[in-house]
Amino acid sequence: MSFSTEPKPNYGVAEQVAPGINRIVANNPSMMTYHGTNTYVIEAEDGVYVLDPGPASDQAHLQSITDHLRGRAAGIILSHHHSDHFGLTPQLREALGVPVYAFEIPADDAFTPDVALKDGDEVAGMDALHTPGHASDHICLARSDGVLFTGDHVMSWNSSIVAPPDGNMASYVQQLRRLLERDDNLYLPGHGPPLPDPLPHTRQLLNHRERRERAILNALAEGSETAERLANRLYRKSHPHLAWAAQRNLEAHLEKLSHEGVVRQNGTGKWMLTDGA
Ligand SMILES: [Zn+2]
Repeated sequence: MSFSTEPKPNYGVAEQVAPGINRIVANNPSMMTYHGTNTYVIEAEDGVYVLDPGPASDQAHLQSITDHLRGRAAGIILSHHHSDHFGLTPQLREALGVPVYAFEIPADDAFTPDVALKDGDEVAGMDALHTPGHASDHICLARSDGVLFTGDHVMSWNSSIVAPPDGNMASYVQQLRRLLERDDNLYLPGHGPPLPDPLPHTRQLLNHRERRERAILNALAEGSETAERLANRLYRKSHPHLAWAAQRNLEAHLEKLSHEGVVRQNGTGKWMLTDGA
């Protein structure tokens, strides 16, 4: 499947990506975060909201956000609890004195949101959509003009990692289907450039996972196998970071297929098809 790229951003500089929405990219580039985490500054009727403050290590980013807000802040919103999005949240909350909005059941009990969001709740004039899969507390935010903030659920630059136990492949696939039933016209992801005309890309992501699932079943039809060897065989990632991510994704697929009764682990820990498969 195809992904988009973009040149290295000007860290610390706010760039308008849609009416009333600016993006500031945190300086935490890596194989898992692309050029860095996207922090969005969103104008709403009651003030300006910051979506995903970024990693705790990036103090220059904290300064860029507060400079850009110039005292107009109304709230901080979190797409999910992962440290590259959440890290600066306590410091930013302290600096701005505004409440933090996040899904009602945080996946990391080190943090409790000031305002607990449920699926369908409204914040900053947007609807929160609970979209577990990449993380159990993941939310997307939908503006009525068709802009959807997709966090790490759907990204333009790469597919998402789904790492059990907090990540869940069945939920992830279900939440991709949910987005396909909507008619949003611009996705703004947690990493990477904006994604216009997002539905074909989302459909590709879903097809990609379905193909992967079939490849796993075909491989297991030839004989039982460990998760590690299956990951090496099906994903062919030589870099250790990518191999780690591939194995987590594979385990998430196996967990889903196991719940569905299609595969099981034998006494030696190898995966195999069940008799009914
Ligand atoms: Zn994440």
